[in-house]
Amino acid sequence: MEKDRLWTSPPKKEQAPRVRRKAINRQQLLLRPVEVEKLVEQGHPVRAIWELAGQLDLEPFYAGIEAIEGVAGRPVWDPHLLISLWIYAYKEGVNSAREIARLCQYHPAYQWLTGLEVVNYHTLADFRIQHREALDQLFIEVLGVLSHEGLITLERVMHDGTKVKACASSKSFHRKATLEDHLRLAREQVEQMGDPESEELSQRVAKAQQRALREKQERLEEALKELEQIKAARSQPSKKEKARASSTDPEARVMLQANGAYGPAYNLQISTDAQSKIIVGVGVTQVSADAAELEPAVERIEANLGQKPEQMVVDAGFTNQATMEAMTEKQVDMIGSLPERSGVTPHRLEQLGVSPDFYPQAFEYDKSMDCYRCPAGKGLGYETQERKGATLRHRYRAKASDCRACEFQAKCCPGTKRGRSLVRSEATPEMVAFQAKMETPEAQAIYKQRAGVAEFPNAWIKDKIGLRQFRLRGLAKVTLESLWACLTYNICQWIRLCWKPQQLASA
Ligand code: SF4
Repeated sequence: MEKDRLWTSPPKKEQAPRVRRKAINRQQLLLRPVEVEKLVEQGHPVRAIWELAGQLDLEPFYAGIEAIEGVAGRPVWDPHLLISLWIYAYKEGVNSAREIARLCQYHPAYQWLTGLEVVNYHTLADFRIQHREALDQLFIEVLGVLSHEGLITLERVMHDGTKVKACASSKSFHRKATLEDHLRLAREQVEQMGDPESEELSQRVAKAQQRALREKQERLEEALKELEQIKAARSQPSKKEKARASSTDPEARVMLQANGAYGPAYNLQISTDAQSKIIVGVGVTQVSADAAELEPAVERIEANLGQKPEQMVVDAGFTNQATMEAMTEKQVDMIGSLPERSGVTPHRLEQLGVSPDFYPQAFEYDKSMDCYRCPAGKGLGYETQERKGATLRHRYRAKASDCRACEFQAKCCPGTKRGRSLVRSEATPEMVAFQAKMETPEAQAIYKQRAGVAEFPNAWIKDKIGLRQFRLRGLAKVTLESLWACLTYNICQWIRLCWKPQQLASA
């Protein structure tokens, strides 16, 4: 009977031995000795930052400190420490005072700097924005060190502008009427604010809410003032009506950014010495176009290093008549690509509904009379001239009455009431000379180096330091934020190219 069974149970497996694992004991209490000096190794960059900051003249940061030895009162944090904390934090891509305060609690490098103390984030935040002149001086001091090391020659400086997002969203931009409505509401809320001590909420929360409301009201008042400036800067009356300002960062402007999108931003201008890619000048502007930024850049370099650069290399955004004249006057050689000289593009003509038979080549220029003749045989007389970049643009226009009566008007100038116009572009003598210089192999070889040098610090500041968007608001504060980032970049180059840890140096 037994042998007829179809199913038999599998033989019993021998039980596998259990893996011996380390137990995790989270209930234990430990007292560990911490040797602060050994929290970071000898070659750690935080030591380099502390060492370099200690060699610089930090006196401007000490001015105004009221805590004096021998007099009652609490001691203050040493500016040497606060500078080192900010520089190390920026180097690591941290640009928030709260985050630094948090890192001070457990990160070995921050603990080494503070000697295991925790610096309050208010102290850190205030320090970052309270010392504009001292920070300028510190930037110059570091340039002096880099120059002494032979890393700066000023023989060739590459200059470029890059847009950095403002701490505001596109939705915060409003026209005058909306801003006035928001301001009225904010004022009403501020008036209705009660006494924080009688609030149901904790006094701390109530005071914070009151402060936030007051700041909102101030920003809206600032936005209305900025709106007037934006309107004043616009030439066309129709555009003035459409002007908008941000209620979050009134000093930010809408700019075309690297990703091809428009958004609130500032234009960060960086000058980089070609010798070792050291930043020798930094500025921030609210103007999106780079056209007028080269002359101030040269002045900044001269103020920082006491001498002008011999040569400035720029892209087409900077190449224009006024800049060429300014560089000639300052005796600075300018190398750059040439801007487009075309008038209205075929694409634009197509958008305007102009038939290809009436594109500019269909009009005949009469040099002796300095006028054009259209396909219908009518004259387009000289109207005006204007400078655009490094070119002179001469405008010619047909009589409005001729075009109104013309059978070709729908194809030639649809919707135009003033008569068809044409633009003739002409290079200025300075432009012709510049063009000739830029056609030489030497100038072209120099220009080819531009992107590699000028875009290196831009990429470093955005990718490593994390300055893709400002944390602070307003032109003055974003300029300070830019200065901290560029100072950090230069110190990183000093560490990379010059610093030797003491242990290695003494070996
Ligand atoms: S519309 Fe004016 S410019 Fe054009 S062909 Fe007629 S007359 Fe000439």
